[in-house]
Formats: sequence, C-alpha cells, structure tokens
Amino acid sequence: MVYPQRRQKVANLLGALNLDALVLCQAENLRYLCGFSGSDGALVATADKLVFLTDSRYTTQAEAEVSADHICEYRTKVDGIIAQLQGFGVERVGFEASLAFGTFRDLQDKGDAVWQWRHLRDELQGLRLHKSAEEIRCIASAAELHVTALAEVEDLIRPGVREKDVALALEFALRRLGAEEKAFDTIVASGPRGALPHGVASDRVLAGGELVTIDFGCRLAGYHSDETVTLALGHVPEKLRSIFEVVLEAHDRALAAVAPGVALAELDRIARDHIKTCGYADYFGHGLGHGVGLEVHEAPTVSSRSQALAEAGMVFTIEPGIYLPGVGGVRIEDMVLVTADGHQTMTKIPKTFRNILLN
Ligand code: ZN
Ligand code: ZN
Repeated sequence: MVYPQRRQKVANLLGALNLDALVLCQAENLRYLCGFSGSDGALVATADKLVFLTDSRYTTQAEAEVSADHICEYRTKVDGIIAQLQGFGVERVGFEASLAFGTFRDLQDKGDAVWQWRHLRDELQGLRLHKSAEEIRCIASAAELHVTALAEVEDLIRPGVREKDVALALEFALRRLGAEEKAFDTIVASGPRGALPHGVASDRVLAGGELVTIDFGCRLAGYHSDETVTLALGHVPEKLRSIFEVVLEAHDRALAAVAPGVALAELDRIARDHIKTCGYADYFGHGLGHGVGLEVHEAPTVSSRSQALAEAGMVFTIEPGIYLPGVGGVRIEDMVLVTADGHQTMTKIPKTFRNILLN
C-alpha cells in the first residue's frame, strides 16, 4: 500500500518543520495522501494520526476510498478542522498556501488563541515531487491516450475548420477513449494566434500556409499529460519554417541534457541560449517547463529562477517557444521523466517538422 509511505512523508515533514499538525484542503494533496478523489474535504495530520474530514455529500465515497485513521463528517469545514485540532491538543499548525484567505481567517478567529499558524508553500512541494512507479504508469497512460485522441481527429486539422472545432473534437475523443477530463483548456492557436502562448481555441478558421500549435493533454486516474505539437498546413513562409527549426533544436538540446544532478535552471539556459543565439531572445518569455502529476502544473518549475537539481523520479515538461506578434509562433513540448541514469521521454508524438497537407 502506498498510503503508509506517504503518511511517513507527512510525519517527516512535520518533524523537519517543527510543527505539531498539518491542515490540508487542496484536492490533489488529499488524493495523494489518503486516496480521496472527490473535490471537497480536509485532512488533519499529526505525526501519528491522519483524519479525513468531509461533508455528507462525500461520506459514502470517502468510506470506500480513503485510507485514514478516521473519517469524520462535518457541517462546516472550519468547525470540523478546529474540532480535530482541539482533540489533538496541538500548538504549531501548518497549512497550504492555497487555502482560501477567508477560510484561514475563520480558522484563526474561531480557533484557539494559542495556535500558531504557519503557511507553507515550497515546504509542501517536496511531497509529490518524486513519482513512484505506479504514478509514472498513470502519467504514461494519460500520454498514450492523448496520442490516440490526436490521431483520431487529425483529418479535421485542415484549412476551413475552426480552431474551436478541432479542440472540441479532440476533447470529445479524449473523453470517449477513457480520460476523466481534458488536462486544461485545449490550445489550438493558428496563424498569427500562434504568437499567443496561451491561445485557447477560438472561432478563427485555419488557413493554408500557416502553422497551428496544439497544446493539450488529459487526466487519467488523477494524473495529467501535457504535450504540444506545432504543425504546418501547406507551404509555410520560410520565416516560420526557420523559427520552427530553432525551437526544435532548443527543445532537443534541453531534452538531451536531462539527467539527475543537472540544475533545472541549466536546462532552461541551454534552450534559451540557442534561441538567443538565433536572434529570438525577446520572443521566448516563459520558463522552459513545469512538473506534471496530480496537477498539470506543479513542482518543479524549470526556469532561470529554479534552484533545484533534476532528481530521479521527477516528471516535468520541456517546452520552449518563439512567439512573433502579428506573424505566428511555435511551441514544442514533451514530458520527460528523470531516471537514475538519464531520462525517458514520456510523450510520444514525433516532433520533427510536419506538413500535414503535403505528407
Ligand atoms: Zn502544454
Ligand atoms: Zn506544459
């Protein structure tokens, strides 16, 4: 069973942070630590006790899937959490940075005056940072599923079709193939819209002679996939073809460098340096990548500000891009797993230049 090991991580964290208890409400943390797949609940953890709390909508579900010492039903979440903390007689309590401010104020106002609250951000990120073999399987399955979905809708990626219709068909295919949900709002950014790094599919109609960037993924058993391809529709201007090759080379170089012990900031630098050398430094504004797991964006961040080194078991994206306002853009994204002796690419769509009308 995975949950006793994960509980041990919480106990270790409490010890390292000199805290008596942890209050967790974020759905992904609940799922990770006790198996609850619903959307609303809380966990109160001490070094040797783990109590799951939820309301009557979820009690039956929790009894079927939660691994905890107790499952308690509350009328209000704040009162439920306070009752547990009082029962444990704790003083120093950590909570997630994502806790709603109003909920925190209520906990503070209604809770015991002696409680010292400590908000945790980076400290909690280590909890889900290293993926187990089972988690890696889930992520790989999600990535496999989304490849099939793209293949099914490929005939639709043609001039005359709206970006929205491509996105909708893709999302429908994902669900039909068994995904729980799309990983995020599918990005289909064609022509000049390719210059929008987060160009969620619009009413724009695809046209020949353009690039189209499709950034998508799905959720399966709680775990996400995330991949970006940029495809050409017919003959594209030389300028677009050349930025594609620059981005691909930046992507390939950074990906090739992924191994345990390599600084995540160094991976960002490798990709950015190539883009800079080719004269596009000003057109790659975002970081190189992000962790993927129960959240589609989670630790570690892969950017120039990253402090961490790559470690075996981390799963993150490599996704350089060049975005030329008014002209178009290219992004190429893969998910990579850091292994004991290097890396393994978890996303499988070929990334070399592909003209889907001429091939
Ligand atoms: Zn993506
Ligand atoms: Zn991504």
